[in-house]
Amino acid sequence: MKKPIPFLELATLHQSIIGDLQNKFVEVVQEGIFSAGREVLLFEHNIKKHLAVPCAVPCSNGTDALEIALKALDIGLGDEVIIPALTWVSTAEAVVNIGAKPVFCDVDQNGLLDLSKAESLIHPKIKGIIPVHLYGKMLDMETMMTLAQKYQVKVVEDAAQAFGSFQENQSAGSFGDIGCFSFYPTKNLGALGEAGLMTTKDPLLERKLRLILNHGQLERDIHELVGRNCKMDTLQAAMLNIKLLYLRQWQETRKKLAGMYLEQLGEIQDITLPRGLLNADHNAHLFTIRTAQRDGLKNYLANQGIGTAVHYPHILPKTPAIADSGFFPMAELISSTTLSLPLHAHLLEEEVGYICKKIKNFFIP
Ligand SMILES: *Cc1c(COP(=O)(O)O)cnc(C)c1O
Repeated sequence: MKKPIPFLELATLHQSIIGDLQNKFVEVVQEGIFSAGREVLLFEHNIKKHLAVPCAVPCSNGTDALEIALKALDIGLGDEVIIPALTWVSTAEAVVNIGAKPVFCDVDQNGLLDLSKAESLIHPKIKGIIPVHLYGKMLDMETMMTLAQKYQVKVVEDAAQAFGSFQENQSAGSFGDIGCFSFYPTKNLGALGEAGLMTTKDPLLERKLRLILNHGQLERDIHELVGRNCKMDTLQAAMLNIKLLYLRQWQETRKKLAGMYLEQLGEIQDITLPRGLLNADHNAHLFTIRTAQRDGLKNYLANQGIGTAVHYPHILPKTPAIADSGFFPMAELISSTTLSLPLHAHLLEEEVGYICKKIKNFFIP
């Protein structure tokens, strides 16, 4: 096989539905409504059905969703929020941007906020916890919520990577006070640009989320509070409405390919395979293996034309902009040994077979 296998290839994915996307684009342009409007309302309706959640509030992107969520919960200056040491930078940015202080907690074997360590970090200034369903795998939300209720802290779920993950038939993002999603193009459901979403069960919170993201107004020119402009583009809602129709099918492909990886890589002693990937509470967003020879393997695969990625090469407390001097051994271990293999709905079974063969060659030459 000589054709390179990139880590992700968004053009191929969209090629298969390009006619539908084109038609919808023309329809929206001809209607001439580019902010709010019926495509955004339809998106809300579709999401509520797909995730079985009572309230869905579309917005500009996942980072804004986190920030708006914290603001709506009245968390701000002088408050502290527990977040995992290993996550995408947005989780910390949202906390810092509302004037609060992130308090880092180490992660467990799966890269998820370690709930056995989180309890000892809770003190009176802690107003919230942001569990991150990293790689698409959900935290144990029953334990998470029991802890939060015990100490009366708010929970904002960072479900940016977990659209389509369900625990006990309940969607990621629907356990905490507010759930935040991202439709960044590389996510399992990606827009053709930037987009995000917040979910909540509380109608008063829903109202506040809607106020904040639209200049503090529900009615034109009546500004109840100082808000922001974080509305979802009509065009993005329209594209997402089309892509939602294919999501179940794309998810099935991801799961099938993930199963093939698990089967074919199982015999390699030097690799730790991801856990729970085929369960309902994992949406197979990323296929992350762990190996002490991560950098060597990454280079070897690159030379064979196989793209991989590292999620994430630095733990957040080691990021200069956010620096924290604590000790986070599991986050460090995962960060220095993890490698994400290609996994998306247009990857071919032969390609997974080829990647696995090359990985075996690396370890057993
Ligand atoms: C993608 C992502 C975000 C941010 O979403 P954007 O839409 O890119 O702003 C937040 N948290 C995590 C864990 C993510 O993976």
